Amino acid sequence: MSQQITEQVHGHYIGGEWTDTAEETFESENPATGETLATFQRGTAADVDAALEAAEDAFDEWRSLSYIDRAEYLWDIYHELRERHEELGEIVSKECGKEISEGKADVTEAWHMVEWAAGNARHPHGDLVPSEVAGKDAYMRRKPRGVVGCITPWNFPVAIPFWHMAIALVEGNTVVWKPAEQTPWCGQIIAEMFEDAGIPDGVFNMVQGFGDAGAALSDDGRVDTVLFTGSAEVGHEIASKVGGEPGKLAACEMGGKNGIVITEEADLDLAVHSAVMSSFKTTGQRCVSSERLIVHEDVYDEFKERFVDIAEDIAVGDPLEEDTFMGPAIEAEHVEKISRHNDLAREEGATVLVDRFELEDSEIPDGHGDGHWVGPFVYEIDYESDLRCLNEECFGPHVALLEYSGDIEDAVDIHNDTPYGLAGAIISEDYRQINYFRDRADLGLAYANLPCIGAEVQLPFGGVKKSGNGYPSAREAIEAVTERTAWTLNN
Ligand code: NAP
Repeated sequence: MSQQITEQVHGHYIGGEWTDTAEETFESENPATGETLATFQRGTAADVDAALEAAEDAFDEWRSLSYIDRAEYLWDIYHELRERHEELGEIVSKECGKEISEGKADVTEAWHMVEWAAGNARHPHGDLVPSEVAGKDAYMRRKPRGVVGCITPWNFPVAIPFWHMAIALVEGNTVVWKPAEQTPWCGQIIAEMFEDAGIPDGVFNMVQGFGDAGAALSDDGRVDTVLFTGSAEVGHEIASKVGGEPGKLAACEMGGKNGIVITEEADLDLAVHSAVMSSFKTTGQRCVSSERLIVHEDVYDEFKERFVDIAEDIAVGDPLEEDTFMGPAIEAEHVEKISRHNDLAREEGATVLVDRFELEDSEIPDGHGDGHWVGPFVYEIDYESDLRCLNEECFGPHVALLEYSGDIEDAVDIHNDTPYGLAGAIISEDYRQINYFRDRADLGLAYANLPCIGAEVQLPFGGVKKSGNGYPSAREAIEAVTERTAWTLNN
């Protein structure tokens, strides 16, 4: 399936075959236009069961291949991702409403991950360590855990699946993947890539669907590791269920209530740029988007004026146009969720500075009236610890301005006062402040004098507190998909 929209109902990919069994179907929608993109079979527990059986059957042979042979299949996919960069970037933009530059960046990040995982096949996978006994060899060796269930979100529909699957597969595991229900077209294309690469039957399996399919996968005792990226609500439910089962492991990467600290030593041009990019790019729908701007009183008024001016002016646009800064929200249900968060801030005493949640018809791109459009919502509020609006993730262009006085210690206290700990940034030209933030801010991803966005696959990607459960994604997924054996050998 390429750019062509077809009447066909697309199936699951199980044991090397495309299925044709569904009683129920669901559709993929372009959030910028409301048009239907394609129709997919809705997976059931029986489909998940068949996929797990195929994955279990394929495991023994797959783990017996060398790392380098396993990586060969991934190298084919790496080349295809690069060759089809433009086309796939457009599909991402069409299906999840991201601006085209972001759609292409999603694909780029995917090939970065595949390159890292396949390249890592030629790197050491254990340690030779000194033994206490002369003549004895002591090693730490890794082996695959078995069947890995991957459950991924819609907002990085190509990159995140590869964060999970590329590493799991190269390490010798087999995979059953459930793409997000909002982005099944991207799921279909990725499954076709594995098919085209000739990966042995059952090593990679994909079940489309929603609700019950994800739960059937994460709950099944045959899954040795669940790799989950998505909301904290779902992730903690999975982690608590799986955590109680001996031998099973869930690595969950979840949301955030990310903050940017702008100190009295900040370059304000940079601060405004960083805040605009972090709060509004991709319509605030990335896990690292910032919903709290914590600004020192000495620069607060000037920062506020400049930030509000831009938020008043930001235009939404057709995601496929190169100069679009902000696309739509993913779906109607998500528009309602953003609206509830805006209302909550008002109820909790916010002074609203910009309310462009409901855009004028004239602001919506021509021919896109059925899209899910929202504009920026900016408010200021006196910081109080237990305000829900400062503690709950909205996942939209919704941002609080918080004024602080005192020193960096005070700013970091406010920054840390949420249950989440995913990402955060500091804008300052004072190294003492930057170092204090680096050492004391509760987060897994820290940016200094940069927007609070961006991922490098050669770094761990994950959060602390409610944002993660100790197994960051990307490079670090290796810990979640392998077992370590301490191996000693008497010579
Ligand atoms: P979501 O609603 O949690 O869904 C994520 C995945 O979980 C989807 O595939 C979903 O399937 C599945 N799922 C839902 N309920 C399930 C259940 N009971 N058992 C098993 N699986 C279930 O998240 P989303 O709306 O797609 O994505 C947005 C969230 O992801 C935000 O909170 C964002 O911060 C977070 N995120 C985190 C990171 C990170 O690296 N930390 C990166 C990107 C996004 P259905 O689609 O079928 O419901």
